[in-house]
Order: sequence, then C-alpha cells, then structure tokens
Amino acid sequence: MLQITNHMPTAELQALDAAHHMHPFTDGNTLAKKGARIITRAEGVWLTDSDGERIIDGMAGLWCVNIGYGRKELAQAAARQMEELPYYNTFFQTSHVPVIALAARLAELAPHDLNHVFFAGSGSEANDTNIRMVRHYWALKGKPEKSVIIARRNAYHGSSVGSASLGGMAAMHGQGGLPIPDIAHIDQPNWYLEGGETSPEDFGLERARQLEAKIKELGEDRVAAFIAEPIQGAGGVIVPPESYWPEIQRICDKYDILLIADEVITGFGRTGNWFGTQTYGIRPHIMTVAKGLSSGYAPIGASIVCDEVAQTIAQEEFFHGYTYSGHPVCAAVALENLRIMEEEGVVEHVRDVGHPHLAARWHGLGDHPLVGETKIVGMMASLALTPDKAARAAFVQPGSAGLIARERCFANNVVMRHVWDRIVASPPLVMTPDEIDIMINRLTKALDEAHAQMKAEGMLK
Ligand SMILES: *Cc1c(COP(=O)(O)O)cnc(C)c1O
Repeated sequence: MLQITNHMPTAELQALDAAHHMHPFTDGNTLAKKGARIITRAEGVWLTDSDGERIIDGMAGLWCVNIGYGRKELAQAAARQMEELPYYNTFFQTSHVPVIALAARLAELAPHDLNHVFFAGSGSEANDTNIRMVRHYWALKGKPEKSVIIARRNAYHGSSVGSASLGGMAAMHGQGGLPIPDIAHIDQPNWYLEGGETSPEDFGLERARQLEAKIKELGEDRVAAFIAEPIQGAGGVIVPPESYWPEIQRICDKYDILLIADEVITGFGRTGNWFGTQTYGIRPHIMTVAKGLSSGYAPIGASIVCDEVAQTIAQEEFFHGYTYSGHPVCAAVALENLRIMEEEGVVEHVRDVGHPHLAARWHGLGDHPLVGETKIVGMMASLALTPDKAARAAFVQPGSAGLIARERCFANNVVMRHVWDRIVASPPLVMTPDEIDIMINRLTKALDEAHAQMKAEGMLK
C-alpha cells in the first residue's frame, strides 16, 4: 500500500534542499546539518515521509488541513476550475463565478452583519489589507488622525511587514526594521506565565483593561482599531480567562474604535463553532480568515467586513488589491471545502465527538510529572511544561524543554509543535477518537522520554 513516489534517496533530497531551499522560520545551518524530514504524501490524518514512515499529524499541517489530506473532491474542483477559467482578475470592474459564490457563502456563514469580503492570498496579506482599510475608513469619516492600531504582545498576525508589525513577537520585530509606525501593543492574557498570585478571572480583567488604559493614554481620537486572535495560536494556544473577552467587548463598545478578530486559526470549526468570535460572543467589525478556509489545499485569505465599514470604503476607489485576490481556482477549492464541512457536519463533529474525546485525553496529561497546565478549546490545545508543577515554574533556559519534547514527538511519529515550553496541538478536525488515542499515546511516550532526558541533563530538580 505504501508507495514512495520520490525518485531520489532521502539523503540526496536533503542535500539539494539544504543547498537551494531557504526555509521559513528555520535556522538554516542547523537544518543543513540535520537534514529536513521530507514528506511525500498524506491521507486523512496521516503523513508519509521519504523513508516510508507513517506520522500522525497533530498540527493539521500549519493549523490548516481541517478536513484532512487526500480529499479528491478538492483536487477535482481545482482541475475543473483550471479548465474552465484558470485565472481572471477582480480589479477594474470584473468578476467571476467562484469569487462571487465564495463571497456570498462567507457572508452567509459569518455572524451578524459581516457581509462583505475582500480577498487576499494569505492571512498576512489579509491583515495588511486590514491595516490600510481601517485607517482609510477613519480618513473617510473625516478623522485621519485615528490611525493607531492596538495589538498584543506575543500575538501572531503574519509575516509581511504590516502583519508582523501587528504581531507581538519580539524576535520578529528584531529583524528587518519593524514595527511600522502607529502600532501599539498591550500585554497578552497569559495567566499561567504572567498571572502570578492573581486569580485567572481577575487577571483576565486586568489584561483587558490595559486596552482601556492604552486608549486613554493615546487618546480615543488617535486609535483606529484593536486586533486580536480569539485564542492566540502561534503564541502557544493561550486560552484567555473567561473574564477577558466580555471586558474587551465592553471597552470596544464604549470607545469609538474598530474590533478586528484574527480568525485565521480559530475560523472554520477549530473552536467548535464556525468562528471563534461565536465561541466567545464577540462582535468584530472585521474578521481575518485564511488557513482553514481552503483546508490548506490552496492559498487564500480574506477580510470579512461589516456593513458600516464596507459601505464607507465603497465611497471612493480603495487603491489596494492583490493580483490573486479572489483567485478562481483557490475560490473554487475553498467553496468545495466549505461544502464538505457543512454536508459532513465537521463543526458538529468537533463539538460532539472530537472535542469531548480529545479534551478527556488531553486533561489526562495533566497527571504527567512534566505538565503544569492543560488547556483546550474545541480542537486546539496546549500544555505547559514545568520543572515544578506547584510553583508554575519556568525552565532556566526558556524553550529548552519544549524543544526536547517536540523532538521526542517527531521521533515517535507524531507531529506536535512547541512554543517556548508549551506543547501545542491542532489536529485535523476530522480526526476520529481512535486516531486521537494513537496521537495521545505517542505524545505520552514522547513526554516520558523527554522527562527521562531532562532528568539526565539536570534540567529538573
Ligand atoms: C498563520 C496566521 C496568520 C498568517 O497567515 P499566512 O497565511 O501564513 O500569511 C495570521 N494570523 C494568524 C492568527 C495566523 O495563525
């Protein structure tokens, strides 16, 4: 059954990769020494590498392959669209059927009056659109000085100059002259690491009220928008305390600023609803989507915009757009993905089957000697590694434990990611209970091995 389709030995592929391929978010010299793991095919929740190993994908690629790999319907939708109309643009008063159908479908799925869609090729591009759109919105309202966008430390909003400026990753700001002007950051609602002796609920309120303090500090007449992920993804699946989002919503309602929800990970079923904003009862003016929109089968992102903002932007030409805004093949693939999600009840599967089973197993990991906290919403989950559970202690070298655990996962043929010393999981939403058991059993073995290694290396007390 296993068919390895690459034509070269792994070592040769690795050497070519190291010689010519610059990898994103990778230390190139370290990778060149180790050699990349080369994935050749995938089916359902299973990856196959160039040595024929079968690996269970606990990350859905990069948080995106929500309906799993190998869905022929999506390949066929792409092929049909390529034959019919492989490309046409949506600039200068033209349109085409797949982009019209996808915009209408997204307006139907998105809550309340988020009825208008501006397409992009990725989440980063969509957030760049958002920066220009909210600033231009206020300029059209006669308030061009309302240009500051408030975001959060340890947020991830993409890797382009604009979106990485919104993001709160210090390491990213340290390279290439970021951030752009008029971006401000407040602290994240990460109770486990930063909450100290405060209760989670009080801490959630405290962190939300930093938004109010920042608005007052800058002046309401200077602030255009606040952007946040309903649950921080790349920051480590940081689930905010229950008190956080209602307080943020109160503050956004009180002051005249726009709320942008970055739903690139939380959108399309990840949290057990179509959108994370529904899980938290938030009412954003703009939602950023990408990743799960096409289950990663084609690159596409979008800003889903409310009536008021869209109608204001429509007053004059918005000098903005990407050659591939609303690309017909990507739009056709996204539509097919959304059809499958609805007809197969993928969101209901998360709510009724995937989440309950994964949550029970995930919280069970809380008994492991390395694990200080387990968090899960829908099918995104994280656990904090600690050398001292009672004290919620951090490791002397932040990230060292996470890296060991992550490497033990990879060696045991389960893909998990580490963010500093948090292990995060975001499996395909269609993962079955049996597959969840395999994933958790392999993770448990990896944690045991990591624990032994850390003990041997004197990282634990
Ligand atoms: C991945 C991600 C992005 C960036 O999307 P790309 O398609 O990689 O540009 C933006 N926001 C969030 C929350 C993400 O997780």
